[in-house]
Amino acid sequence: MDPESPNRNLAPITAELDPQGRLQVGGCVLSELAQRYGTPLYVLDEQSLRQACRAYKKALEQHYPGPSLALYASKANSSLAITALVAAEGLGLDAVSAGELLTALEGGMPMERIVLHGNNKSAEELSLALQNGVTVVVDNWRDIELLQELAEGRSETVPLLLRFTPGIECHTHEYIRTGHLDSKFGFDPDQLEQVLTHLAGCSWAQLKGLHAHIGSQIFELDPHRDLAGVLADAFVLARSLGHNPTDLNVGGGLGIRYVASDDPPSIDAWVKVVAEAMAAACQARNLELPRLLCEPGRSLVAAAGVTLYEVGSRKHIPGLNTYVAVDGGMSDNPRPITYQSEYTACLADSPGAAASESVTLVGKHCESGDVLLKGLPLPATKAGEVLVVLATGAYNASMASNYNRIPRPATVMVGSGRSELVQRRERPDELLRYDVLPERLRSVG
Ligand SMILES: *Cc1c(COP(=O)(O)O)cnc(C)c1O
Repeated sequence: MDPESPNRNLAPITAELDPQGRLQVGGCVLSELAQRYGTPLYVLDEQSLRQACRAYKKALEQHYPGPSLALYASKANSSLAITALVAAEGLGLDAVSAGELLTALEGGMPMERIVLHGNNKSAEELSLALQNGVTVVVDNWRDIELLQELAEGRSETVPLLLRFTPGIECHTHEYIRTGHLDSKFGFDPDQLEQVLTHLAGCSWAQLKGLHAHIGSQIFELDPHRDLAGVLADAFVLARSLGHNPTDLNVGGGLGIRYVASDDPPSIDAWVKVVAEAMAAACQARNLELPRLLCEPGRSLVAAAGVTLYEVGSRKHIPGLNTYVAVDGGMSDNPRPITYQSEYTACLADSPGAAASESVTLVGKHCESGDVLLKGLPLPATKAGEVLVVLATGAYNASMASNYNRIPRPATVMVGSGRSELVQRRERPDELLRYDVLPERLRSVG
């Protein structure tokens, strides 16, 4: 257990066994939470999340001699409660849509600590950002066109970061790799000079800095080291073209431990490499240290979360496979079917019991690919027992769907023996709320 760096743990930092050997998190027995709030249930450990925020802050202060700010990439898990907690810990926040932006503002994140990302922002989203003084990450010419129109007639300038693809390869899944040149995000580096020159002529634009993000779930440190030089070069270029930037934003991407064999760097080790590389790259170019921004998502929230399911049916095919089904699946955790992601799971009330079989853990959706885990060693299980999947705090709730018209789960936040509902469970009847049945289709018989 590494309390300093929750991203290196399989379970939340407060996970322990109660005297009966049942797994508890934040002082709450997980099977009791399942009983009280129903399943599937997302459980978020407040202490793990706070600890990860503090680890970023502390490491930035320790390893970077200039100003710095960590921004929570809220697409990892967006809610009012998480926003409020992250804001209270002094972090900023990345939003990618009007919905994430509204959540940030309503959750109490100060506008000057919010940035709006996106490779295809709508005029409405940009307008919301402008009205609220949010920094916009300019991703493409269309952003500039729309901002130009929206900025007309306004007296205030628009704070901007400019995103470009740094041309850095790293080893992660193709869908979550963004740093190589063939990516939909950001300007091509060949276009940097042209766009910086254009922005220098826009009186409404206030270029605050540059941004690049190389991908997600990355265990290597070298790509982040290389990124510092690429960003510092762009900083020099921006200055030479008449801008006065102050910020360099290295994006997010630090990986977490999903299975025992994963060995990601700690938050401290990652920040140290990024900070030292940035300081060195700036010194080598005679630059005053810019404000260093980073945008962790997964490494802040993933290990804080677990998902509770109730075990239901089973199908044993002699000599072939044993399927054990739970009451959720790809609608509450689309990562296995999307990225072939691996997870770790155990029984809530006997996490340490010796395994007697190896099962394929499946969901309840009409899809053969609705598999949460393969080769899961489990003791004999009965229907009704509570099963825990670990490290589901990132990219689960935020990617959840209503496939098969299954309501999305509730989220409870736990800490010091207290549990609080922070997102309530949808009901099946609520899923009909947005349907409209034209009168002429109404059945008469
Ligand atoms: C997804 C994303 C992040 C967060 O990535 P993690 O791997 O979750 O840390 C940060 N910045 C940008 C621009 C992103 O797209």
